[in-house]
Amino acid sequence: MEHSLERTYFVETVRADFPILNQEHHPGVPLVYLDNAASSQKPRQVIEAMDDYYRRYNANVHRGIHKLSEQATAAYEGARVKIRKFINAASKREIVYTRGTTESINLVAQTWGRANLKPGDVVLSTVMEHHSNIVPWQILAAEKGFTIKYIPLHEDGTLDMDAYTRLLDEGGVKLVTVMHVSNVLGTINPVADMARQAHAAGALILVDGAQSTPHMPVDVQALDADFFAFSGHKMLGPTGIGVLYGKRALLEAMPPWMGGGDMIASVRLEGSTWNELPYKFEAGTPSIAEAIGLGCAVDYLMNIGMETVHAHECAVTEYALERLAEVPDLTVYGPDVSQKGAVAAFTFAGIHPHDLAQMLDAEGIAVRAGHHCAMPLHHYLGLAASTRASFYLYNRLSEVDALVEALYKARKAFYR
Ligand code: PMP
Repeated sequence: MEHSLERTYFVETVRADFPILNQEHHPGVPLVYLDNAASSQKPRQVIEAMDDYYRRYNANVHRGIHKLSEQATAAYEGARVKIRKFINAASKREIVYTRGTTESINLVAQTWGRANLKPGDVVLSTVMEHHSNIVPWQILAAEKGFTIKYIPLHEDGTLDMDAYTRLLDEGGVKLVTVMHVSNVLGTINPVADMARQAHAAGALILVDGAQSTPHMPVDVQALDADFFAFSGHKMLGPTGIGVLYGKRALLEAMPPWMGGGDMIASVRLEGSTWNELPYKFEAGTPSIAEAIGLGCAVDYLMNIGMETVHAHECAVTEYALERLAEVPDLTVYGPDVSQKGAVAAFTFAGIHPHDLAQMLDAEGIAVRAGHHCAMPLHHYLGLAASTRASFYLYNRLSEVDALVEALYKARKAFYR
């Protein structure tokens, strides 16, 4: 893998926008941030856009007649329009603001799921899901009496698509709910193909896009996803804001979830009627600064271009997989780079993942250790935990070298 001048120029230009990256993690030890799958860092443009809202035009949205409220509403709704374009939804009415992927999935479970799932029905998911796409269905299944089935994996961490077809053929499937990219294995699932098969079987498909939307072009219409969920904080935006995309006809037919201000058309003591989309699902004062910040993050990513972001991450991931393969006693999980996002989860024989993460932290390298909210997947792989390095558009190839060097150092310390 070449450390090309072009790549160096790209990454150094991007890094200049991220104040947090230019610091020492410990005295004399630079920060190497490789925990992007948990949360990304934020460029100054996003930080400044949020600061600007609070300094210049802080006010509630949709209510005020005054100028500040009009300005806040324009920025808040402007962000929705940017997000629509970013994922190529047909209408901004299909973009529902939530607090993040978790809330988006719970919204679908508590509205569409509560209204449509009954005993005998099947929700079909995969063993690689994040807890946020397992637990909401378990909670609802306990109440509604439907069944949840899980698609198994091949050895290399890809989905067993023959098993998927078989499970659909068994019948009763009302919803397929699947992650686009695994936050542990990095597997990029063939969701367009899965959607086609789900629809042919009369089922809907929900795609958890938490780990795809930040990293690659996403076109919800090309995927033909019925629902698509993602979080702002993993894609250069702030915490507390995310999106549920849903096809308009589905969202129109769904009852609201949370009740309160803004989501109503009229309220009488005898009963209420609901606001139009997407406000029907947005009760109460929303995360205004956060939506504006997410809109700015979308601008930032679109300026660079998601193809370019993805190409850089593929280069870093490919290099990381090459270098990690050199390290003795280290096992990396998941498929090869052709089917993998910017994630490398690994274990070191004889070293607990938490101890390893601590040793890496001493070298300035921020990674995550644990089950990464995917306990069933770790159980399936026969692991209690793993250590995970995850990359983004601002990671240098030399940071992969720093990781590998620190792993050799840890190995020496433990195997002494
Ligand atoms: N799904 C996946 C694949 C994730 O990686 C995450 C975040 N780790 C989530 C869902 C949940 O996202 P959030 O915590 O932002 O709601």
